[in-house]
Amino acid sequence: MSKTVWEKLNEKEMEELMKFCEDYRRFLSSSKTERAFVTNSVAAAEKAGFKNISEESELKPGDRIYAVNRGKNICLFVIGKQPLTSGMNILGAHIDSPRTDLKQHPLYEKDGLALLDTHYYGGIKKYQWVARPMSLVGVVCKKDGTTININIGENPGDPVVGISDLLIHLSAEQLKKPAATVIEGEQLDLLVGSIPKKDEEKDPVKAYILDLLKEKYDIEEDDFVSAEIEVVPSGEARDYGLDRSMIIGYGHDDRVCAYTSMRAIFEMDVPERTSCCILVDKEEIGSVGNTGMHSKFFENVVAKLLDRQSSANLISLNDALENSRMLSSDVSIAFDPNFPEVMEPKNSAYFGKGICFNKYTGSRGKSGSNDANAEFVAKVRKVMDDNNVMFQTCELGKVDVGGGGTIAYILANMNMDVIDAGICVQNMHAPFEVVSKADIYEGYRCYVAFLKDMR
Ligand code: MN
Ligand code: MN
Repeated sequence: MSKTVWEKLNEKEMEELMKFCEDYRRFLSSSKTERAFVTNSVAAAEKAGFKNISEESELKPGDRIYAVNRGKNICLFVIGKQPLTSGMNILGAHIDSPRTDLKQHPLYEKDGLALLDTHYYGGIKKYQWVARPMSLVGVVCKKDGTTININIGENPGDPVVGISDLLIHLSAEQLKKPAATVIEGEQLDLLVGSIPKKDEEKDPVKAYILDLLKEKYDIEEDDFVSAEIEVVPSGEARDYGLDRSMIIGYGHDDRVCAYTSMRAIFEMDVPERTSCCILVDKEEIGSVGNTGMHSKFFENVVAKLLDRQSSANLISLNDALENSRMLSSDVSIAFDPNFPEVMEPKNSAYFGKGICFNKYTGSRGKSGSNDANAEFVAKVRKVMDDNNVMFQTCELGKVDVGGGGTIAYILANMNMDVIDAGICVQNMHAPFEVVSKADIYEGYRCYVAFLKDMR
């Protein structure tokens, strides 16, 4: 058996891998918010023959369906030969990523500069988000019911914005602080302008920016109250490493698992068990809200599918959920030779060794973990081996050093079998994260095998 995915590839497979990863790199570069990811997914799904659930009144094996929740959460299905009550093979991943968001009253002028105030989203090392080009991506919803899409900084030629850091020459005191407070939450304000509006007495620089917003987007200052504008690192994802074996980009956590899961369900023709792919929002802040995994949306969609297939009632819905099997996919930690002290080498993931299975995640004694049943782990192993998919098993670092959670436990609460699976990354939650192309491709192959062969 080869040690890495790279070594087992023939020339044709190597070509396929590079092509697949280039598709991913482009998709990731244009999907920097959960909304953008859903919009791009719908376009890709429709191209792959999926129809909106509202268009289908009856379902037969092989039918391809999707349902979107508020533009931030999507479920895709390929109907299987077996009835839905026999359960589905489910792939789940999240499409929100750490960032900072504009506050509801963001714009102010100070010392001749116009700034936008932000509140960060998810777990970030704040000092990593300063002194770099940032883009503003999102929506402004107006009282008249219209929604204006904002995307400033992503097109070549666009201006970018950013958060300043203190110059090294005057940082003696700042550098004595612990890293957690070197940059504090209220310092994450974006510099967005410095030209004063002529003949304007009060806050002329802010007035100049407001004029620009009015002219270009037809928005007023009050419209920020009903806006969702995310501040994300500017620029495309790039090939990484002299050998181009990796990709560096914003938001691999968890769009790398989401994209590969989506591509896997596109591959299904008429599966034995119904294939399902759930892509959710809000994982980074606890899977809360009506577009997060805790939302009833997924169960409601499954009930609708049952209704279009035979009859939906509480028992058939519970059967469909209880008999399902799931890969809850979220990124794992790639062993990093720069920081070996936090890892336990026997139970760590390594770049190039394929998809990672975490029997459990959690922290402080597996707290918050799903902890998959051994019987189910054995079934997953068999499907992987039968399909020649390379996998590794790992934990989120050394015991008692830290940890993290995923959406796995939420689906497990529906009494289905769930295991955490995912692609490993370096720099997790930094503005730019790194993944191995071999793991992207092997992750995709894992998901196809699971949808096709899990019983
Ligand atoms: Mn995360
Ligand atoms: Mn994640």
